[in-house]
Formats: sequence, C-alpha cells, structure tokens
Amino acid sequence: MHFTDLGIDNRLETQLAHQGITQPTDIQAHAVPTALAGHDIFAQSKTGSGKTLAFLLPAVQRVMKQKALSKRDPRVLIVAPTRELATQVFTQLRLLIAGTNIKALKILGGENFNDQIKALRNDPHFVVATPGRLADHLTQRSLQLSGLELLIFDEADRILDLGFTEQLKMINELANHRLRQTLLFSATLDHAQVDALSRNLLKKPKQIMLSAANEQHSDIKQSLYLADYLDHKEALLAHFVKQDDVGQCIIFTATRADTARLSELLNSKGLKAQALAGDLTQSKRLDIMDAFSRENFKVLITTDVASRGLDLLSVTHVINFDLPKHAEEYVHRIGRTGRAGFKGTAISLVGPKDWPSYKAIKSFLNDELEFHTVEGLTGKFKGLRDKKPQVQNKVNDKVKPKAKATPKRKAKPKKPQAPIKAPLNIDGDAPMRRRKKPEQE
Ligand code: ADP
Ligand code: MG
Repeated sequence: MHFTDLGIDNRLETQLAHQGITQPTDIQAHAVPTALAGHDIFAQSKTGSGKTLAFLLPAVQRVMKQKALSKRDPRVLIVAPTRELATQVFTQLRLLIAGTNIKALKILGGENFNDQIKALRNDPHFVVATPGRLADHLTQRSLQLSGLELLIFDEADRILDLGFTEQLKMINELANHRLRQTLLFSATLDHAQVDALSRNLLKKPKQIMLSAANEQHSDIKQSLYLADYLDHKEALLAHFVKQDDVGQCIIFTATRADTARLSELLNSKGLKAQALAGDLTQSKRLDIMDAFSRENFKVLITTDVASRGLDLLSVTHVINFDLPKHAEEYVHRIGRTGRAGFKGTAISLVGPKDWPSYKAIKSFLNDELEFHTVEGLTGKFKGLRDKKPQVQNKVNDKVKPKAKATPKRKAKPKKPQAPIKAPLNIDGDAPMRRRKKPEQE
C-alpha cells in the first residue's frame, strides 16, 4: 500500500520517501483516510507505531488543499503534554512542510513569552504547543482559536495526568464551532478520565483501537530483576549498561538526584552518560537531547519528563532503575525502544520500594512479567508477600524491610542477546483488535 492510496498528495508522498518512509503503518492506514473524510478520531495504537504521521499527514494535506476558515487564526493546533514530545512532533511537521509556504510555530513553556507573541503575529498555520503555555496565550489573547479547523491531542491521557484538565476545557471552548475536527491519539487511552474528556471534545468520533493499552509489545523484550537497595541496583545497572548488545540506552529513575548520581557513577566506569532533569533550562535540555540523538553519548538518564518524547531508533535498551507509579507510564517508558519495527529490550529493577508499582504493572499487563537473575549479582530481596501491608514510600534506603520469600522468583540465568540490527519492518506490528466505543456505554 502507498500513501497515495490513502488519499495523500503526491508531493507529501515524495517528501516521505526522502525520509525513507514508503509504506503506511497500520495506524496510518486507518487514521489517514478517516481524518481526511472529516471525522473526529479516538485512536490508540502502540508506542512507536507511527501515530505522529497518522495525524500530521491529513493535517498538512488539509492546509495544502482546503481554503482556510480564517486568515489570521491557526488552522491546526497540536497539543502535546511535554516539551520533548511537542518538539518531536514539530520536527516531523517541519520535514513534511519543507518547500511549501505553510508556516508552523512551536509554543513551549520555559521559552520567552514576548518572543512567542511576536511569532504568533506572523499568523502561523500550524501551532504545536504544550498546554500550560498555550493557555497563557489564550488568556492574554495573543492567540485566538475561533478559526481553528483541526484540533489534535497527542498523548491526551498524559495531558490529564499532568493536571491540565482546565486548560483543555479552555482550548475546547475557545475553538468551539461546528466545523472543528478533533483527533485524539495515544498508546494508552483506556482510562475513565479520558472517556469523560473525549465526550466533551469529540463529536461522533471514529474509534481506531489497534491494540489494547495493556497489550504486550511484541518488539520489546521485557525482563525484571529483583534488587536490594541502592548498591545492588547500581551494580546491576552497571552490569547491564556494559553489555555488548547495548546501543543507546535510556535509564529512568524516580528522582532528579538519582539522575545526577547515576550519571557520575556510569561515567566513572567509562560509560558515557548524561542526566536530563526537569530543572534544567529548556535550551540545555534541548542540547542534551540533540547530542543524544546524534549518538554523542550512550546513556541518557532521566525522570519521566522524557518518557513520551523520545523517538530514537538507536535506543536498544530501556532500564527502569526504579519503577514508575503508574502502569501506563511503564508502557510509555519501555516504548522508547522497539520503535518502528526495531527490536528492543526493557529491563526493570524491582526493589522493596518498587514492589507496589510492580504489582500494579503486573496486573495491568495481565501477569506476563518474569523475574530473571544475573549470576554473581543476586540479592537478598525476594519480593513482598501479598497480604503484608505495603511499605510504599515509607521505607527509606537505610531501613531494611522484612522481605519474605515468595515462590515467584525464577532462577534463570540471563541469556545473552543477539545484537540488535533488525530491518525496518512495520508490517504486523500492531495487530487489529477493535474495541467497543469507550464513551458510549
Ligand atoms: P508513536 O507516536 O506511535 O509512538 P512515532 O510517530 O513517533 O510513533 O513514530 C515512530 C518512528 O517510526 C519514527 O521514527 C517515525 O519516523 C517512524 N515511522 C513513522 N511512520 C513510518 C512508516 N510509515 N514507515 C517507516 N517508519 C515510520
Ligand atoms: Mg507519539
């Protein structure tokens, strides 16, 4: 199948071919014609399955081919939860509109507000924004949405998790006219909160549910390792990062302090690592991301800020030094590898503090996670008993938990993995599985 078969213009197809993109992915094959036909969309498909182009292609085509409702207001607004994700989307958009006279602007928090006001006066056709800063511009009326034709939310569930419900309502109300089309995409949309939101945002949406949020990703090999406190976790971490099959690697930690400490630790072992913490300035963050994407260093250590923004095919491994609290976040974190048909490995270290998160993730993913061990690096922690009151957050690193053995652990040695050089193979990465409309019970 070609992009032109989906109704996409030749020029766009040529533009994609320059990027080596010739065959639509599953989500693109479903979403592009649906969006071009003018329907609202509620779409869920796996991490790395090509959702960005699934909404950008019909958006760009619309701006190229159809007359604008307003000469001044943006025609397309794309809202993404984090600066990293907004930047990623913007980069893809810029490639698509290269050589056209379509104007696009990125509006992020952490950047100069007045510069943004000036740039908005240039009447961009596309605005890609994070919700907080966008709302500031709407309040100040430096941006009007009455002529908006297409409103797109990427990773809408995360926007809600971050507490931007009011901002979403405001955007919805200011761009509230009969002709507006709205598209909502994520890998994890089955939350009650998202259902409530989509009832307000979407009009008779077409549901495109290509995978369940909790479906195991066939291109990502997931393994878990029981770990004692910090020293043991650090020893395991160093062991994994040193393996030959690690190309680039992203490590997720619970705290900023840990990102800095682990970066020092790995550098002291000759492994090039950098910490990306939320408190860095925007330009520093972009510099680090840029250097990582150019493969100037091997290991990026971060908290959740980057878990949905990074799309780098060279990332072979994701390591959860600590587990995230929410199971959905686990899905997005591990989804930084195994993208666009490549294979990836996700390793999670599960210590006493991680146990409640482990239980939540295990139940979300329907129990398919297994523990492994590394020879010479097995610890004392064997998991916590189910009935025991959970020690979540109360335990500090120096207090020993009363860890009781459970029969869960499998004493399998870690198998060496083949180097990861899978060809780009998009076909079949997202099996079709339609679900009922979540908003119409
Ligand atoms: P998602 O948003 O679903 O996590 P992305 O849109 O970020 O995934 O796409 C993941 C990667 O796949 C990107 O590097 C993107 O350039 C690439 N990609 C997207 N569509 C195609 C395609 N049709 N063929 C090959 N690669 C693609
Ligand atoms: Mg995406």
